[in-house]
Amino acid sequence: MKTQQTEAVESLNPFQIVQTQIENAAKIIGLDREIVEILKKPKRVMTVSFPVRMDDGSIQVFEGYRSQHNDAIGPTKGGIRFHPDVTRDEVIALSMWMTFKCGVVNLPYGGGKGGVICDPRTMSKGEIERVSRRFIEAISDIVGPDKDIPAPDVYTNPQIMGWMMDTYSRIKGAFNPGVITGKPPIIGGSKGRNEATARGCVFTIAEAMKDIGKELEGATVAIQGFGNAGRVAADLLAEQGCKIVAVSDSKGALYNPDGLDLDDVKELKDTSAILNYDSSFHLKNPDELLELDVDILVPAALENVITLKNAHRVKANIIAEAANGPTTPDADKILYEKGILVIPDILANAGGVTVSYFEWVQNLMNYYWSEEEVNEKLKSAMETSYHAVSNLAQKYSIDFRTAAYVVSLKRIAEAMKARGWV
Ligand code: GLU
Repeated sequence: MKTQQTEAVESLNPFQIVQTQIENAAKIIGLDREIVEILKKPKRVMTVSFPVRMDDGSIQVFEGYRSQHNDAIGPTKGGIRFHPDVTRDEVIALSMWMTFKCGVVNLPYGGGKGGVICDPRTMSKGEIERVSRRFIEAISDIVGPDKDIPAPDVYTNPQIMGWMMDTYSRIKGAFNPGVITGKPPIIGGSKGRNEATARGCVFTIAEAMKDIGKELEGATVAIQGFGNAGRVAADLLAEQGCKIVAVSDSKGALYNPDGLDLDDVKELKDTSAILNYDSSFHLKNPDELLELDVDILVPAALENVITLKNAHRVKANIIAEAANGPTTPDADKILYEKGILVIPDILANAGGVTVSYFEWVQNLMNYYWSEEEVNEKLKSAMETSYHAVSNLAQKYSIDFRTAAYVVSLKRIAEAMKARGWV
């Protein structure tokens, strides 16, 4: 009865969720009230709408947002997502998570995020290109290499970043690669950027497995989401000897306790649908993927998938949040009580923005690094950040998410004080 009552009031609004997360961490270190109040709101949110000619000749009006949460430490930074469920509150929350993510890995950035309400799965390449160019044009006054630097996110990719960089450069009348990261390498993209989110996530998983005294070799893994992060994470974990037993995408889920044939799954994803895999390995209810008895669970899709409703049934030892916001605060409490080690999004998926930072640095100095150099720097950044969070979690006996916020909040608060904001 008690659970049902609590369930009814659980907030799934990501904006409220991130505010709760800030409050939880602020309490631990007794952070000044003024700082908390500033951080609970974004500095600026721009709403734009723009017309795009579709392939059938009709005009469709699209709506998009760019939220800039906090720029105490540096220009704001964060991806642009194209998704039919994008909302203003979601984009704001995602920009706030970016501030704390950049803080955890100690990057000289604040947080930003953008989103356009559209469904690229049902649009042609030409329509996606026109939406991309019109959106960056609409927000071109507030972005820039020393203002706000976008990047890929859900359903956006290097090609889209290339189009956006091109439109922005034309508007400014000068080649401007530093305005956006995640570009194709030929026009200033960093080597290793495409795999960086997953690679960074795998570095944190490796450290977490050491912490709980388990081997990666032979460990079982379930991955929700087979986009850039989930798919590359599957490959990298398999390279480390893990057994990928379950994967899913927005259409369905596969599960084979003896391990899936990853090459087959990837080929089906590229040519038709993962559900064309042997039907005896289909999960009837794809949500069950989150409740499988595995060593490592990687939510790599969207927000709010581990909630009060299913948290008590989660059996993984480690959850590595490749997605942003997959776990609600109420679910976090349950997972912590169950002794599950949650590597929070702002740490687990920070590899993407870390290599975005490397890309921006390379663009600003016009000197490019090898993939080995990028991957080595990423490894060191992820391991250092993981241990800063893990040590703090131990010191205060708190969960990793709160610890990650504490690491980050301390840095942001110091910058706000140094700038005289409080
Ligand atoms: N969209 C990614 C994220 O959520 C990457 C952001 C970036 O590289 O700026 O972290």
